[in-house]
Amino acid sequence: MHRARRVCRSWSILLSALLIGVGICSPVKADEALAKLRYPLSKSDGIRIPNIVLDLSEVPDNASAKAWGLESKLLCEEWFPVICRFLATEKWIPPETVRLVVKRDLDAPGVTSGATIQVSLKWITQHPDDFGMVIHELTHVIQNYPSDKTTPGWLVEGIADYIRYWKYEPEIPRQRLDPKTADYHQGYGTTGAFLAWLVQKYDRRIVLRLDAALRVKAYHPKLFQDVTGKSLDDLWQEFVRDLPK
Ligand SMILES: [Zn+2]
Repeated sequence: MHRARRVCRSWSILLSALLIGVGICSPVKADEALAKLRYPLSKSDGIRIPNIVLDLSEVPDNASAKAWGLESKLLCEEWFPVICRFLATEKWIPPETVRLVVKRDLDAPGVTSGATIQVSLKWITQHPDDFGMVIHELTHVIQNYPSDKTTPGWLVEGIADYIRYWKYEPEIPRQRLDPKTADYHQGYGTTGAFLAWLVQKYDRRIVLRLDAALRVKAYHPKLFQDVTGKSLDDLWQEFVRDLPK
């Protein structure tokens, strides 16, 4: 019995040594190679959803605009916290109210200024399935970057379309980019496709990092180099070479 207890103690010493060896008993260091493969969500799951106010004052008698507007309102309420988790919104205070205004005359499908989204009656009548446009505009409400001359418009639009096309409607076939004419400065879907490629090929955290920098006027093209080890222009050339022929 005495002998058996001694054997048991030796086993426990051996087991402890093994556990320390595999890192269970010691703090585990973050593995950078793995961390860049894990898509992160920002810790903003408890964020307050603004009151989404539908403004139909310019189209009071249009039943289909009203139906479309009510559906858009629901979409905004559901997707507001989802988009917040894809962007660096931990310290961001959302607006109390987001206004969704259907405009009788508007040249663009949608336009966002601050927390007001304007959508074109003509566009939603001709494209009633284009709720992705609302997601793009709602992303602008959440981006809410301080105005700064170093903020590149192409990247702001690219992030909004990245959220739209890769997070909201990834099932929709992407438009083919022409390697001869495409340029990341074009913003929108072109930059969105570039960001998606960077996410997939280099680092799942890159959109969150870019968004975090834009929120504090700290964006610089060198950020692409910091994350990937390659310059923005070199990355673009590589992206174009990777485009399906
Ligand atoms: Zn936009």
